Amino acid sequence: MKPDWWGSFIDLKSSQSIEIKRQKLVMYFSSYIGGLILLLFSLQHFENENSLLFSILLTSAAVVLSNVVLSHFHRYFKVSLYITGAGVSGLILGLVITGGHENTALYWLFPFPLVYFILFGYRQGLIVNLALFAVVLQLLYQPQWLLAEYRTDEKSRFIASYLVTVFLAFVAEYFRFRSHKELSSINLHRQKQANMDPLTKLPNRRFLDSVYFNKTKNADSGRFPMTVIVADLDFFKKVNDNYGHDIGDKVLIHVADLFKTHVRELDVVARVGGEEFLILLPHTQLVDALNVAEKIRACIAAHPYQCIEEKECRIEMTVSIGVAEATTIEQLNEAILCADEHLYAAKRNGRNCVIHQTY
Ligand code: GH3
Ligand code: MG
Ligand code: MG
Repeated sequence: MKPDWWGSFIDLKSSQSIEIKRQKLVMYFSSYIGGLILLLFSLQHFENENSLLFSILLTSAAVVLSNVVLSHFHRYFKVSLYITGAGVSGLILGLVITGGHENTALYWLFPFPLVYFILFGYRQGLIVNLALFAVVLQLLYQPQWLLAEYRTDEKSRFIASYLVTVFLAFVAEYFRFRSHKELSSINLHRQKQANMDPLTKLPNRRFLDSVYFNKTKNADSGRFPMTVIVADLDFFKKVNDNYGHDIGDKVLIHVADLFKTHVRELDVVARVGGEEFLILLPHTQLVDALNVAEKIRACIAAHPYQCIEEKECRIEMTVSIGVAEATTIEQLNEAILCADEHLYAAKRNGRNCVIHQTY
């Protein structure tokens, strides 16, 4: 079980999906509202017989609106984002070149830096903003490419205030991203704490009930057959009685480490009681799980806990194990109960053994 093992179970993805949801809502909102405003402006210029501006506004409205409508029917949300970005960039360049209505184009550029940052995040947003700014700058100082005429002081004021807008939008998006990341890692840390046994660092019963079993229900049937191993340390109370609770704790950590060495990345070892552990082996038949259980039993018996506090202290431990197989998710609870019964049979049988059927 690697340190990032938790990431595959505890919902890291939820913070990513919240972020994508935010981007989607921004795109829907800005595209529908912005697209309708563009459409209204284009109609106004149709009446004014300004056919070039009318075409630019109508084309931008058509791109933005059709793109957002289509985005509801496919799964390539990123593509829709880029098309929105391209539509907005086309609009900006069109406005700068034509000068817009009565040469007021430059004023209409100010909302767009923020839109780019929200759509693309602070990194890509900065690249897109700076690239577009470079093109606009080039256009402003190449009058032969422009249909409009801008005054020199108007251009310099626009450049300064536009750069300030880009910078402020960048700062706002960057710190929003940072705080979102920090909140996500606090959330992950808390979820981990709630689902992990603090002593052995193994998942606890809560993890099984509220995370693992739910995930297994929603996963495809590839996890089955799943075999359940329930293991309980033998006469553990004596360890506490003879050596004290602190050493008892260390023995539990030692045993938990031994369990971990026998499982694969996809298996789960959980501490479900004081000295009781539950191991779930997905995609494993009973016969293979019995091998694993037997290896675990032999390994624990062969690796006593060596005290470093007191010389010559060797605490020998054994474990009793019950095993049962579930072929479907519906059988999983029953298999756990069955493995539990087999564990008690193992205790009755003299302990330090693996049982997979009750006689
Ligand atoms: P059996 O072979 O029948 O399982 O005997 P046992 O002594 O292992 O079982 P019993 O249920 O009688 O005792 C379990 C002991 O485990 C009692 C309890 O004090 C101890 N224990 C439970 N949790 C912890 C813990 O977190 N740390 C320590 N040190 N001891 C614990
Ligand atoms: Mg016990
Ligand atoms: Mg017990």
